Amino acid sequence: NEITKVTFSNGVTIPQLGLGVFKMKDENELSEAIRVALEAGYRHFDTAMIYENEAFLGKALKENGIPREELFLTSKVWNYDHGYEETKAAFQASLDRLGTDYLDLYLIHWASANYIETWKAMEDLYNEGKIKAIGVSNFQIHHLEDLMAHTEIIPMINQVETHPAFPQDELRAFMAQHAIVHEAWGPLGQGKNDLLAQPVLLELAEKYGKTPAQIVLRWHIERGIVVIPKSVTPSRIRENRAIFDFGLTTEDMGKIATLNTGERFSGHPDDQE
Ligand code: NAD
Repeated sequence: NEITKVTFSNGVTIPQLGLGVFKMKDENELSEAIRVALEAGYRHFDTAMIYENEAFLGKALKENGIPREELFLTSKVWNYDHGYEETKAAFQASLDRLGTDYLDLYLIHWASANYIETWKAMEDLYNEGKIKAIGVSNFQIHHLEDLMAHTEIIPMINQVETHPAFPQDELRAFMAQHAIVHEAWGPLGQGKNDLLAQPVLLELAEKYGKTPAQIVLRWHIERGIVVIPKSVTPSRIRENRAIFDFGLTTEDMGKIATLNTGERFSGHPDDQE
């Protein structure tokens, strides 16, 4: 029942399940969610400068007394901090707010204008040992090709919108060729478009004695995807953790694949400035 791990191209591992903390802006709500998550066995937390909760997250983690080396912390550099010096400053500010001296993973949040110079700063921070693994988010194939053509290190991970209605099969195949780990944001479809009420998911939930959310999260796990579902509800935080005690058959994975509509539920990566 342990949370499985995925290995990056540099040998560093990432817990395949983490807690996303997007929209958790209330300190009490966030610290309670962190307490419940830690108790349930989560050690991986996904934040970003733009979520405005790095300081609360750092404080909540310290209060629970988990040794830093047992935690896996991800943050992201926002669009207006792109550029070499800007990124270095933004990274240090994130460390200061989180109250730590290194990050396990740092991502370029969106492929906005100056991502090449941003990446060069991240390569240097990585080579200095201040970040254990570096990656990107919301990068399309053309962004990855451009980045790889102009910089040294291939991103270790790409965090992109992914769920059964938008499985990212084409991007996924490209990433697999370059040993780029696939991480899903909005793994449950962000509660949109009634994804979790689809008959296929209700049927599988019944069959496995699980909830539709657990079926969807397990579908990601079977695909080797890292998931960071967000919830502040204790029962759901625990529910989302309970996905390592069963497996889906190939046939059932195929049934879930029929939910692919090819439509994103959220913002398009090419629309960023
Ligand atoms: P999500 O798919 O995790 O959906 C979260 C919502 O699903 C919750 O608000 C809740 O309403 C519902 N939910 C959670 N658990 C449930 C359960 N067991 N049963 C039923 N409903 C449940 O969407 P998200 O929060 O947008 O994505 C997860 C994380 O990904 C974020 O918290 C954030 O860390 C990250 N993220 C990154 C980007 C990016 O641009 N890189 C964008 C969005 C989110």
